[in-house]
Amino acid sequence: MYEKYSLSLERRLGGQLTFVTTVISIIGLFICYISNPESITQVTIFIGFGLIILWGNYFNDFSEKNNIFLTLKGIFFRDGMYLGKKIYLDWDDVGKINPSIDRSTTLGSNNSFKIKTGIIIIQKKGEDKKYTIKYSHLGGRYVVNHTGFFNAARASDLIKSLRDATSSEERKKIFGESTGTPIERYKHRQQSIPFEFRVMYHCKNCDILMCYDKRVDISEIVCHSCHHNDLVKS
Ligand SMILES: [Zn+2]
Repeated sequence: MYEKYSLSLERRLGGQLTFVTTVISIIGLFICYISNPESITQVTIFIGFGLIILWGNYFNDFSEKNNIFLTLKGIFFRDGMYLGKKIYLDWDDVGKINPSIDRSTTLGSNNSFKIKTGIIIIQKKGEDKKYTIKYSHLGGRYVVNHTGFFNAARASDLIKSLRDATSSEERKKIFGESTGTPIERYKHRQQSIPFEFRVMYHCKNCDILMCYDKRVDISEIVCHSCHHNDLVKS
């Protein structure tokens, strides 16, 4: 499915969070078995139930099938907030794209915990029907295998510029400018910075915190995600 010139936006943070929570739960279960073997059945049921919900959510929200896939010819996405249908639109058929809209879910009796879900609404040209992409409630999505980070507003702008491009060459250029740094190169750079010289800077352009080398002046550093020089100390 992956074409040479394409770009896929994934919910990487959600996937990583699911994996880390699973590992911690299994370690917790093991510690419980060592320290208090009598209660292992109840704890296993409790943790097992939690993991079923967690992985159910993973397949609904964070798995590869929910990636937004942008190609030279058009866009693939999943329509709807839950278990949506896979949709493909040619760039010529893509109409209005609404900037990000947040749907807030409030948890807790005193509205103490709010989940904001960024969504993107796409209309097909000549039709009233609007497609809804559940974009992210963890800030945004990453370009697969790269550091490029897009919140819903920035992703809407990217989709608009691909729709409005007049040639494949123009779209190739947009892909090249949007992917960020390959993840392996980014990791290699990070590992080369001694721990005491690592610093977190926030990019105002793509709204992400990433790690940099404090020995280099901030005015000379470009963002790992968008390659703009819009960094500020967090
Ligand atoms: Zn940036």
